[in-house]
Parts: sequence; structure tokens; C-alpha cells
Amino acid sequence: MSHRLYHESLEVISQGRVLLEDLRDWGYENVPQLAEAELPLCRPVENSTVPAVECRVESLEELEARLRGCQLCRLCEKRQNLVFGIGNPQADLVLVGEAPGREEDEKGFPFVGEAGRLLDRILFAMHLSRQDVYICNVIKCRPPSNRDPQPEEIAACEQFLQLQLAAIKPRLIVALGRFATQTLLKSKQPIGRLRGHWHQYQDIPLMPTFHPAYLLRNPAGKREVWEDMKQVMVRLKN
Ligand code: URA
Repeated sequence: MSHRLYHESLEVISQGRVLLEDLRDWGYENVPQLAEAELPLCRPVENSTVPAVECRVESLEELEARLRGCQLCRLCEKRQNLVFGIGNPQADLVLVGEAPGREEDEKGFPFVGEAGRLLDRILFAMHLSRQDVYICNVIKCRPPSNRDPQPEEIAACEQFLQLQLAAIKPRLIVALGRFATQTLLKSKQPIGRLRGHWHQYQDIPLMPTFHPAYLLRNPAGKREVWEDMKQVMVRLKN
């Protein structure tokens, strides 16, 4: 069975279950029980009978559609919008940030606040635009008060970034800031030590650099970011 058909079937099963529950609520008797079917990826982990990693995704659209309504962690409770990602689905370069902030949560797109405007200027200096690259975050829903994402939130959400990267197959990745870098590289080293050097995410070269929000607070770091981005530009041209 194709993945699309599989997920459409799950959707029909879940709609059928809701309908049967409604009938029961309305007082119909002898309403049949629908056996628990295999659950789709974005149902809470503890109820899932399907290990999430077994669900392979063929396209970004399919993944985004399946993520809609995700309740894998508690960040779903307060979110206005899930922030999936934006840009060219066949981009050579993917930039990965941490998690949506207030404006991203409101608009549903990554890096649309002040840090995002700085990111646009960095891209412009690299002779790139948002249409050339793909931008996303490790965490897809806003942590309250922009606190650091918790380990269980990372554990729930990281697989979607992995699937995004598997769908896009970029030539290069730029990890923006400590959180994205440490998550992608499975490292605990500080960003100050990791940045400026090429690393590997699976078989994709990855350049860590400072997060644009850090640069807003520490403009002196822009020099180092520019050094890192020059290395990225050289590799993109080859
Ligand atoms: N910071 C991030 O890491 N991601 C966003 O989308 C916005 C701010």
C-alpha cells in the first residue's frame, strides 16, 4: 500500500470512529466498536502502535499535511500555528533554527521577526534569497515565553526535521545557533567551538554559526558569521 493511501485510510478510519462516537452520544444503541487501527505519526507517542520512524515521507507537502494538528508534545496546547518551514523544496542549502517565536507562531512561517530580518540580510549578502534556500526549525511549535525546548519536545519533534532533510536532500546545511547545532550533530560542545568548521549531518556537510537573535544582542559576532557564510558560499559554488 502506498504511504498516501495508508494515511488516507487512517483518516477515513478516524473520521469513521468520530462518527460512531457521535451516534453513541446521540443515543443510538448497538453502535459497533471500530477496532483500534494503526495510528498515524502525529498521535501522542504513548498511544502509538506505529514506531514513528517507520513512517517514511515522500514529499514535504505530505509531511506538512500529516503534521497538521500534531499533538505529540504539550507545545500543541498553546500554539496558534505550527511552523513547518518555507522555501525551495529542492534547495541546495537548508538553514535550521531553533523554534518559532511569537511572530512566527502568529504568522506560521519561520524567521519572520527581527532575527528573521537579519537572516534575510545575511542571505542577501550571500546573493541568496528565501526562494533559493529552505528555512526551518528543530522545533515546530513555539515554546511558551520563548523558553528553551525541553528534551521531550526535542524527542517528539526532531524526527520531522530529519524527514524534512531527507525529503529535500540539500547539498549543505547551516545550523543557526547552539540548539540546532547540538541537536543535529548530537554534540554538547559549545557553539563557539563548533562554528566556523565543517561537520557532517549524516553525509551532508554542515556549518554551524551563531543564531541571528544572538547577533542582535552581540553585533560583534557578525564578523564571525560572515566568515562562516563565506565558507558556505565557496562550497555552494563548487
Ligand atoms: N528563532 C528561531 O530559531 N526560529 C525562528 O523561526 C525564529 C526565531
